[in-house]
Amino acid sequence: MINFSRLLKVRETALDVEKHHNKRADEVPKHLIRYSNVKAPMVSWNITRKCNFSCDICHLDSALEAESDELTTQEALEFIDQMASMKVPMISVYGGEPLTRDDFFILAGHAHKKGLRVILSSNAALVTEKTAREIAESGISYVGIDMDGFSQIGGAMDVIAGLEMALPAMERLRDAGVGCGVRITIGSFNLTEMPSIIKAIENAELKRFAVCQHFDGRDWKVVKEERRGIIDFLIDYAMKNPEMEVVTEQLYDDGVYLLQRFAEREPELAAEMKKLLERQGGCPAGDRIVNVDYRGNVHLCPYWKSRTIGNIREQRFGDICFDKENEVLARMSDKTQYLKGRCGRCRYNHLCRGCGARAEEMCGDPFGADPACYLTEEEITEAVPITSNT
Ligand code: SF4
Ligand code: SF4
Repeated sequence: MINFSRLLKVRETALDVEKHHNKRADEVPKHLIRYSNVKAPMVSWNITRKCNFSCDICHLDSALEAESDELTTQEALEFIDQMASMKVPMISVYGGEPLTRDDFFILAGHAHKKGLRVILSSNAALVTEKTAREIAESGISYVGIDMDGFSQIGGAMDVIAGLEMALPAMERLRDAGVGCGVRITIGSFNLTEMPSIIKAIENAELKRFAVCQHFDGRDWKVVKEERRGIIDFLIDYAMKNPEMEVVTEQLYDDGVYLLQRFAEREPELAAEMKKLLERQGGCPAGDRIVNVDYRGNVHLCPYWKSRTIGNIREQRFGDICFDKENEVLARMSDKTQYLKGRCGRCRYNHLCRGCGARAEEMCGDPFGADPACYLTEEEITEAVPITSNT
């Protein structure tokens, strides 16, 4: 993810990041985890495929029923123990809808007892007062509400109506002392509504939103044209609204684009941004993040389901994550060396690293060019003059 607000306002300075860079996972503040040098990856864990909604544009491979061979409670508890002994810095729990698992609070409570930090992603429909309290009691301090569920109740994607429906759940979470933000999907179906959607987010008194662009099966040319407009809008919004945290997902070239927009106008800010983007190091797949699905399959990232690097039913999680024999995995920590095509010749590839999932899907090569990159040839090959007096 690229956090525009943090980069633009430099809420964390390069100095903060340096100070925490080599600390133990449990000593690094949550918001600086993505810059830290902790050895174990963050884990995104799809704990079930079961969801109470069935959205047309689901990005999570969900279904109305759980799969018969999902990890059992005992297997999930043992997996949590392994993550604790590896000191994974953060677990983001996804589904389907995680709250449909009957043992959700047993697992979340166990992770909390083991000292693990857990973030929950939920569609919020099952968040009653009792559930909100249980979420708080199990040590989860933040819920990212995925708005796709509520927004598609009427058939078409209506994020404003979805926000209205999610409001009571947000209030319950706040009353229980749990922070929340939303993840919205923008695509050709609601592009022009973006200003009013964001107004509705403000009216819901939220302080954070993440934007995903819908590009499943889309024409990349259209995706790229849309992306530039979306990102320009979000950058301008983030600058004018420093109290809101604005985040984008899916494309790490957003960071390169942001940097280039500020290089001439505000070189000091751009220099600081560059240091942070260098520390963040672009796409974290297989290196600083891995995904585990409801059957225990381990993937390089949540969107890279076509490549499985092991299964926690068959091997220890640590052995899978640090398997030097796996050629693609072994190259992930040093990915820029192996990048090809546009991503190979891009002088900012160390800030972005392209997307292996999309590259593999489109051209069969995880180190090929990211087909969704919207930067021009000039933008990826010309040096941006960034100077700093500090
Ligand atoms: S060319 Fe590749 S590495 Fe460079 S910004 Fe685009 S996606 Fe990122
Ligand atoms: S491989 Fe692609 S989808 Fe996965 S984390 Fe990297 S940029 Fe994101």
